[in-house]
Amino acid sequence: MPSVSDLSQAAYCPRQLYYARRESDRSPPPEARERQALAFRYDELRTADNETLAALPIDCSPAAYREKLETLATRSDWEALCAPTETNYHVAGKDCHGIIHKLLAGDPPTPTVISPGQPPKQGVWEPQTVRAVAVANALAWERNEPIPRTLVEYPTVGVVREVPLSTRRTATYRRVLRTVRAMDGPPPRVNDGRCKSCEYRTKCGVTTRSLRSLLGL
Ligand code: SF4
Repeated sequence: MPSVSDLSQAAYCPRQLYYARRESDRSPPPEARERQALAFRYDELRTADNETLAALPIDCSPAAYREKLETLATRSDWEALCAPTETNYHVAGKDCHGIIHKLLAGDPPTPTVISPGQPPKQGVWEPQTVRAVAVANALAWERNEPIPRTLVEYPTVGVVREVPLSTRRTATYRRVLRTVRAMDGPPPRVNDGRCKSCEYRTKCGVTTRSLRSLLGL
């Protein structure tokens, strides 16, 4: 059964997932974890001084960051975001399993996905959409109740975006799930702008001894 991380990675590029599955350590790099950890300090950082904020991996000026957190604090779920009922909660659904970064109190509860990166101008990136739908579906299966939405947090810029479970998003999730289930060899290269920020770009598509060994050829 794939993990929610597998599905998210395959939504970015199925071939990237193929390579990643051959790594011995697939945990996120320390820099990504440091950036995600900011999502557990909103209340404290809202009033932090410039020096404190400048020493953190935020992606805007300290003043802009405090302003973003002030805006965040006007949300009705601000307190739940600052004090989730569960953190790093492992969920096992019918089709996938994985970690829900935060579970916010409510009836039903709201899962959140914490991104170490920056958001697009609107909405969330497709890999995060797929992860958001995956955790909502898995939690719905576990709790035997509909989970209609997930939040995606971008703590380096103090932004939280909603991902309601629409028909279109569910269809995208199902397509990626089918792709992952059907993978039995290296998928074709996508060969577009995604490759620029891919950690496998230097070896992807290059037939070297190390790649052959990576692919098990
Ligand atoms: S370099 Fe491009 S095709 Fe290769 S794994 Fe990365 S994103 Fe996919």
